[in-house]
Amino acid sequence: MQVYADNAATTKISAAALGAMMPCYEKFYGNPSSLHTIGQEAKEVLEDARERMAKLIGCEPREIYFTSGGSEADNQAIISAARLGAKKGKKHIVSTAFEHHAVLHTLNRLEKEGFEVTLLDVKENHNITARQVKDAIREDTCLVTVMYANNEIGSILPISEIGAICKEAGVPFHTDAVQAVGHLAIDVKAQNIDMLSLSAHKFHGPKGVGALYCRRGLMLTNVIDGGAQERGKRAGTENLPGICGMVAALEEACAHLEENTAKVTAMRDRLINGLSQIPHCDLNGDRVNRLPGNVSFCFEGIEGEALLLYLDMEGVCASSGSACTSGSLDPSHVLLAIGRVHDVAHGSLRLSLCEYNTEEEIDHILTVVPQVVERLRSMSPVWRDLQSGKRKYIL
Ligand SMILES: *Cc1c(COP(=O)(O)O)cnc(C)c1O
Repeated sequence: MQVYADNAATTKISAAALGAMMPCYEKFYGNPSSLHTIGQEAKEVLEDARERMAKLIGCEPREIYFTSGGSEADNQAIISAARLGAKKGKKHIVSTAFEHHAVLHTLNRLEKEGFEVTLLDVKENHNITARQVKDAIREDTCLVTVMYANNEIGSILPISEIGAICKEAGVPFHTDAVQAVGHLAIDVKAQNIDMLSLSAHKFHGPKGVGALYCRRGLMLTNVIDGGAQERGKRAGTENLPGICGMVAALEEACAHLEENTAKVTAMRDRLINGLSQIPHCDLNGDRVNRLPGNVSFCFEGIEGEALLLYLDMEGVCASSGSACTSGSLDPSHVLLAIGRVHDVAHGSLRLSLCEYNTEEEIDHILTVVPQVVERLRSMSPVWRDLQSGKRKYIL
């Protein structure tokens, strides 16, 4: 049995998304900037997609800027707010310690340019509180950028409360909602969100396409210069097939949000309950306030990388931490940020589910994970030391 349980890294494209892309290659292949009929037909398809996308998150079509994905949207949102802030002498940014690298590395770059960044602590409940944001905002704060939901441990942040606080304080509020869009109900106006990043391939859309919602009146800075596409704010010929695939995927996700949530949450909870039975392990993230598809554990005495390889041999595609950190031997910055010590952080496993998963697949995972953990522990010198009392258990 082959089980794909790495949906936080990327998802399988849906039939609806693929179906919406094909006509863009076959019929609407014109450049939307071209003045002739074929170009103008493409332009109409593009603007129709923009309108539909805007409806799905509760904004105006002209507040949607199509990008190459979540990372680009994060970069542009943060850099735009920083440039605006600098003009007014405001060079302080509030964020969290467990953001995606697309946010953290952009903030690092700004720090080198003289910006000051406050990263909110996420040890308590593996989350932040709106109160922390309120307390961190200063006179010179030019941006609050806080993710909607964490990609590794699934924590859902108090976005509406933070939106209200930022509105009150007059500070622009950006949220990296890449893990939330298509999985949680979002209304940018009701939630007082000024900027929001999303990415198609996290909700069964194609890879390499996303969007930045930016409230009208907030000035965007280009991160890609060139032609006048996207109201002059993002150059480059529009990825029309990608955009149409993304919008079709999001329409489908939003139309089935409730039933998908119910199905995926039930599978998630069965996994969490089952895996919790393994001795000396701990759940990462909040038990209740978490993404429907996220299961994240630390197992003491094993290496996450080895766990992944053994699980792969049993047909289970999972992840330890995020896909972005694999390839490096450092433990995930998210697990360290929630207070896991290095040894424990190394023994992490993330299973991320979607509505395509089945109860039989959950049964399979519940069978193989305890076996593989036991097998790895039986070979681990660390585990031997823990068992003999030479080392103290942390979990
Ligand atoms: C995947 C992801 C991104 C990056 O999106 P891309 O479209 O792959 O660039 C950013 N933030 C979060 C929280 C993500 O999960």
